[in-house]
Amino acid sequence: MSKIRIALAPGDGIGPEVMRASLDVLEAAGVGEHVVFEAVEMGAKVFARGDSRGMSDEAISAIEQTGILYKGPMGTPIGTGGKSINVSLRKMYGAFANIRHFRSLPGVETVYSKAGVPVNFYVIRENVEDTYGGIEHRLTNDVIECKRLISAPGSDQVHRTAMRTARRLGITRVHCGHKANIMKMTDGLFLDRFRVVARDFPEIEALDVIIDALCMKLVLRPGDFQLVVLTNLQGDIVSDLAAGLVGGLGFAPSANIGHHVSIFEAVHGTAPDIAGQNRANPTSLILSGLMMLRHIGLLRMAATIENALLATLEDGVHTGDFGAPEIPAVGTKEFGGAIIERLGSEPKEHEAVAVPQSEKACLERPKRPSANTLMQTFTQVKSEYVGADLYLESTMAATELAVDLQRLSEDTLFELTMMSNRGTQVWPSGSIYTECVDYWRVRFELRDRGRAGTFGQGPVIALMGKVGEKYTITDYQPLREFDGQAGYTLAQGQ
Ligand code: NAD
Repeated sequence: MSKIRIALAPGDGIGPEVMRASLDVLEAAGVGEHVVFEAVEMGAKVFARGDSRGMSDEAISAIEQTGILYKGPMGTPIGTGGKSINVSLRKMYGAFANIRHFRSLPGVETVYSKAGVPVNFYVIRENVEDTYGGIEHRLTNDVIECKRLISAPGSDQVHRTAMRTARRLGITRVHCGHKANIMKMTDGLFLDRFRVVARDFPEIEALDVIIDALCMKLVLRPGDFQLVVLTNLQGDIVSDLAAGLVGGLGFAPSANIGHHVSIFEAVHGTAPDIAGQNRANPTSLILSGLMMLRHIGLLRMAATIENALLATLEDGVHTGDFGAPEIPAVGTKEFGGAIIERLGSEPKEHEAVAVPQSEKACLERPKRPSANTLMQTFTQVKSEYVGADLYLESTMAATELAVDLQRLSEDTLFELTMMSNRGTQVWPSGSIYTECVDYWRVRFELRDRGRAGTFGQGPVIALMGKVGEKYTITDYQPLREFDGQAGYTLAQGQ
């Protein structure tokens, strides 16, 4: 049987050391029987050659061919235009779900371990959309915008992965974290799709929790959570909070799962302060390696290594960044060696992981698409134009601006109905105490609602032409109804 190919990028800083220790452990457990690692060139050396992607063409095509990348941390050069490889990789290959497991480990002292409170839960974070699209513009002298895109199919993918992961792990309760009370449409969509997807998993209790309350509850009672699914930025923040509960980033494995390519990586950085000194802790990368083994069906091998790692930690073996001060720290390589010595052992006090009798290495991948896949959730939707929000630059007072805009729109299908500044309505009514900046949303709606659906974008563009002669319009959003439902929110105070 042919071996599974895995692209391997040790990374920068402490990357090569922690990767060597991790590979020593995997190889000692017999991974070589099933897997062949193929080194790819990524990171600091490639950036230094002036390639702002930080990865060679050969690396990109090798990862596409293998479908799996095992990577160490990589630095992002600051101020040279180089992009974060970590973010680029996830987005480029559509690795849409980031899975992280946070649990108390023996020998890793935390506030919770001291109090006898076990921590064991997963965070699954949408990995592509949200503010991570990096769509940012300077709109006026004083205002910069970051566009936050949340899509129905993007949400569906991550929710389905969360539910399938829960089912596979025997998890009975999944929470969707969100801020749908404020971001009613974007987080509202994410939450709606969670509820829709959850219907296919009736054995799993599907609950939701507002993101700020989630942070408090995770700290107060981490045991209440088994798996939390989140949008990208909220998930990023909650992941690091969760890492803090279990002793830091050095103990949190991470898998980025996509249909075609999945990436397994340590979540900590390149730790330049200790690089090359054999002091780094390889646990995060080893645990990520175990997620990778499970991804390719090597369940028995992953459980065997996991038990050896737990036994090692239980015996007090530790690198300098954690562990009992009275036991001398070991080096990165020696820490890996200690795990290898314990392969076949189980932890005595900590619950051991069940080791399956048999395993079968396999990697199922969908066929390579011939073009970028267009994902769609809603296809039969009737939409009608009912107006437009124009975003424009002005330092005028609200009432003066309103009079001018009413004059400019006199001969159009639309009338000015509302103006807001930073999302708060200031015209036709509002508070004199609302502080404003040089950027306005001005809402125009049909004078005659009976005309809805009888025209396309033309009349809106004509309106923009008139307003645009006098004001800089930085952005325009058509106001549309989708199957009769407004596709826009009201301003705060409207
Ligand atoms: P860092 O995680 O590299 O270091 C923060 C602190 O934690 C340092 O004191 C470091 O010594 C320590 N530390 C980190 N990993 C450790 C380990 N395995 N064992 C022992 N101690 C460890 O974060 P940073 O200093 O903010 O970032 C340094 C570089 O890493 C930056 O260029 C950043 O862009 C990059 N980075 C990469 C990734 C990634 O590749 N996934 C993630 C975060 C940061």
